[in-house]
Amino acid sequence: MSEELFARAQEQLVKNKHYAPRRTMGPTLLQGMLVCQQCGYALYRCSTRTSKHQLHYYRCLGSDGYRRLKGPVCTNRPVRQDYLDQFIWNEIIRLLEDPALV
Ligand SMILES: [Zn+2]
Repeated sequence: MSEELFARAQEQLVKNKHYAPRRTMGPTLLQGMLVCQQCGYALYRCSTRTSKHQLHYYRCLGSDGYRRLKGPVCTNRPVRQDYLDQFIWNEIIRLLEDPALV
């Protein structure tokens, strides 16, 4: 990921925020903030340590039953940070490379 592409991606995200309704293209990366597509709660980062290395996850606040009287409001599973980041970058790059969308 070059710095130039990153800058273009940021710019495109700002444009999308203005011209497109939210939550139309999966998890939205906005200045490091992620919102669950299913329930609209923010995702937060957590991590778990395995014997070999540490894994980072994004978890939906709505999926944490213990925080709510009525149990979880969301069935989204925690998603590995590296998978999600890859997915998001793929989406951004796809947008940048499609002249019809830009
Ligand atoms: Zn959720």
